[in-house]
Amino acid sequence: MSYRGRFAPSPTGPLHFGSLVSALASWLDARAHHGAWLVRIEDMDAPRTVPGAAQDILATLERFGMRADEQPVWQSTRIAHYQQAFEQLKAAGLVYPCGCTRKEIADSLLHAHTRNTTLAYPGTCRNGLHGKPARAWRLRVPDDDAAVIAFEDRWQGKQTQNLATEVGDFVLRRADDQWAYQLAVVVDDADAGITHIVRGEDLMDSTARQIYLQRCLGLPTPRYLHVPVVTNQYGEKLSKQNGASALDCDKPLEALSAAARHLGLDLDGDASAKAYTTLDDFYNAATAAWSERMRLAI
Ligand code: GLU
Repeated sequence: MSYRGRFAPSPTGPLHFGSLVSALASWLDARAHHGAWLVRIEDMDAPRTVPGAAQDILATLERFGMRADEQPVWQSTRIAHYQQAFEQLKAAGLVYPCGCTRKEIADSLLHAHTRNTTLAYPGTCRNGLHGKPARAWRLRVPDDDAAVIAFEDRWQGKQTQNLATEVGDFVLRRADDQWAYQLAVVVDDADAGITHIVRGEDLMDSTARQIYLQRCLGLPTPRYLHVPVVTNQYGEKLSKQNGASALDCDKPLEALSAAARHLGLDLDGDASAKAYTTLDDFYNAATAAWSERMRLAI
């Protein structure tokens, strides 16, 4: 197996410290495996995409010394592939149209919650739209053991999620006619031959859905590793929405050393004690520390 990893930023603003941590972890894992590192711009969510942000992210990665081994892929150019995967699922009878509004789902969940059941989509439109117009398309999740997805996360250990009770039938095509992240990411990772996914822990909850979709589409399942996310003083995931500032491109080594510390990497005993003067020095030390932490032989 030859290793292929990736970093898949959403262009909703400039790269910030939280996304740098994910980029660095995926980059170090690829380097430690002598593998390829790819970049995919996840610009499928048109309402959240900020013009110019993708170019800005790519320029920052370059400035920080993380160079993709292949041309970046843009999700917005890959619509036909999502459509094709969707048609495959439709032909297999695995998807159905859903007419529920957010409010209707929230109301029925509230009702379900008071009966002490779970917060999964209750399957209202499974057997028909009840006269409502179709809004979104959902993937049918089985009611048996096939809905229980277990995987070994390389950082966090064994994970299990019961899709039927914890998630329910999930959206593949949204009411605003956009392909859902879950479908796009599975199709893109498979087409790019990704063998290892390294990303933030906030996406852990999506992984079981993605593994289930891979099974439905007959695609291989990559290995997963979810790194701890960076939080602000309120304990919220650092994001462009809650005020994360852009990285200072004049001081890449400072930000990279801080990102390495966040990943618990021991660079010569203490990342802050040794000031790396070149990006190459930093990456060599960080790759060795990553390999040791992940117990990889390099
Ligand atoms: N585009 C997603 C994000 O920026 C990452 C998706 C992934 O790594 O699977 O949060």
